[in-house]
Amino acid sequence: MAHTLQVIEPATEQVLAELPHAGVEEADAAIERAKAAFPAWRDVTPGDRAKILRRIAAAIDERADDLAELEARNVGKPISDARGEVGMVVDTFLYYSGAPERLLGDTIPVAGGMDFTFREPLGVVGLITPWNFPIAITSWKLAPALAAGNTVVLKPAELTPLTALELEKIAVEAGLPEGVFNVVVGPGRVVGERMVEHPDVAKIAFTGSTEVGRRIGALASQSIKRVTLELGGKSANIVFADADLDRAAASAPLAVFGNAGQDCCARSRILVERSALDRFMDALEEAVDSLRVGDPLDPDTQMGPLISADQREKVSSYADGEAPVAIRGSAPDGPGYWFPPTVLCPVSNDDRAAREEIFGPVAAVIPFDSEAEAVRLANDTIYGLSGSIWTRNGARALRVARAVESGALSVNSNTSVRVSTPFGGFKQSGIGRELGPHALDAYTELKNVYVSTE
Ligand code: NDP
Repeated sequence: MAHTLQVIEPATEQVLAELPHAGVEEADAAIERAKAAFPAWRDVTPGDRAKILRRIAAAIDERADDLAELEARNVGKPISDARGEVGMVVDTFLYYSGAPERLLGDTIPVAGGMDFTFREPLGVVGLITPWNFPIAITSWKLAPALAAGNTVVLKPAELTPLTALELEKIAVEAGLPEGVFNVVVGPGRVVGERMVEHPDVAKIAFTGSTEVGRRIGALASQSIKRVTLELGGKSANIVFADADLDRAAASAPLAVFGNAGQDCCARSRILVERSALDRFMDALEEAVDSLRVGDPLDPDTQMGPLISADQREKVSSYADGEAPVAIRGSAPDGPGYWFPPTVLCPVSNDDRAAREEIFGPVAAVIPFDSEAEAVRLANDTIYGLSGSIWTRNGARALRVARAVESGALSVNSNTSVRVSTPFGGFKQSGIGRELGPHALDAYTELKNVYVSTE
């Protein structure tokens, strides 16, 4: 072990845990364990694999309160959000427990014989996860990977490794054979890159910044490793003047400030039709003022601190930039990495605050004059992850939903993620889809077998 890693609680700046810090040697050992465990796990009958996934779901459910508290303290997220996310982890394992017995293939009509397709596991899959939704995002990758018969090495973000380590223990206690799921806590540049470059890792599933995603893609290309990437966003929340403005404004703050803005789905560009701008801003101000920012463990809290001092410094540079601050909410004084919810208005789509992923509680309001301009602005970004359209005009809602280049859009709602529906990005927001039945494609190879009957 190289040295000890201190895990910090963002709301107090105190040490929450100390862990051994892994390096290349530990990464190699985990990959070796996963490789050794693969043949037996692949050959577990589909029904038995399903049962183990259901037992893991039940065991997480039993420990849900403890896991939620650990996640809330480690990330600084409101306990009510953490409870919801742990609930989603349970649902994700239950959803994919239906998969082992439903990984169907095709029979294809061909001349001279019969043709079948099979979905086969890849082998050892490497998961690299971020610090914003640690346990939830882990489950989106881990559950379909295991369901399809792969073994797994997970490298959680060093800032937030605690629930991943608990999950590893819970899974083994629930009956997952030793070596099938291995957690290695170490730096991305060392442990993460080792996983990407290791010849015995068949695939990398990554969530994090577009910059690191680019590097992983480049390194993985050396061995034609399978890669799925869930990266950044700069999503548009498009509010037309004919929308229910009160509802749109009431739900806009948490669509950016939820998880303190550290959300790849954050609708951080709020596009508002100019004729409704004043009414919308008045309602938005009221909603921002009523946001409860404070102790993550208070069940009424809606927004906690940022993850780290570095993240706060990065976020400050946008809030103190070229665009005027129209609304500034409140935040506790230190200790803790607090940052007040902040709305900039009017913002040009060319401003830095409208172009770069801020990953903090800073929203940019951008006025527009026509549907065509709204679509142009929404698409004028390197990203394409999520977004919303607020209007009472059904035909317009459908037109705009088809025209916006984005992986997950909502009409008159700001939600993006459901266990049973695909989630992922267009453009530089990523490659591949998580959740829903589509995620299984990312954890299986398609094999075609032809049998001559002549
Ligand atoms: P990163 O992309 O650096 O981190 C995500 C994960 O990748 C972590 O586990 C990290 O490990 C690991 N990692 C870092 N470098 C490498 C590498 N070279 N090879 C393999 N794995 C690596 O995000 P940051 O924590 O630096 O956050 C920076 C910005 O990224 C945020 O401000 C935000 O804009 C964006 N981001 C987007 C997320 C999303 O959900 N789309 C999630 C997180 C961040 P470790 O940190 O332990 O070294």
